Amino acid sequence: MHSDIKQVLYPEEQIRKRVRELGQTITQDMAGEDVVLLALLKGSVIFFADLIRNVASHIRVDFAWVSSYGDGTTSRGVELKVFPDEDLSGKTVVVVDDILDTGRTLAAVVHKLRSEQSVKDVKTCVLLDKKARRVVELEADWVGFHVEDFFVVGYGLDYADRYRNLPYIGVLNEHCYQTEDAPGEAGICKDHGVE
Ligand code: 5GP
Ligand code: MG
Repeated sequence: MHSDIKQVLYPEEQIRKRVRELGQTITQDMAGEDVVLLALLKGSVIFFADLIRNVASHIRVDFAWVSSYGDGTTSRGVELKVFPDEDLSGKTVVVVDDILDTGRTLAAVVHKLRSEQSVKDVKTCVLLDKKARRVVELEADWVGFHVEDFFVVGYGLDYADRYRNLPYIGVLNEHCYQTEDAPGEAGICKDHGVE
């Protein structure tokens, strides 16, 4: 699996340090609020698990399952598969996602929360922000790292549902992507023990 990575962008230690800072900032900024941290599955789980342990105040957690569809590396639309049915009225909801790319996912979730639940406020926190590809006008309230226009994997981020368990964030070798000539999972590097 590790040999499928062309370049490590954020090593473990750098992520750990930045997530600690994010947790401390959220603790300060959200002081006195009744906060629910809402993780978007599946990509944010590892970031979320680390982030909440760096928030030093009483918070609650919840989960929503959102999936974007499109080809392997670009989202075209958003499907809200499972949403918390917990009553979020009066709460400040902090939506946590792995990466802000076109902005469609976060915008859809924020819209749904604001229109269907009488929440007090909705904030957003992402580990990575890929500004270059934004199609929806949206800025996250807290951002871990600003990333160039690379398709990245690791630390929860997947390609074809793999590589989430890499402890760092990196860029895949080109030959690991599926192409039009090699549809389905043919592009995944099976020869490196991913299967
Ligand atoms: P958006 O709706 O902002 O375009 O995309 C958000 C979702 O697309 C993320 O939650 C993530 O699942 C996926 N995504 C966007 N960019 C990347 C990337 O570089 N790597 C991976 N693994 N997923 C990405
Ligand atoms: Mg995602």
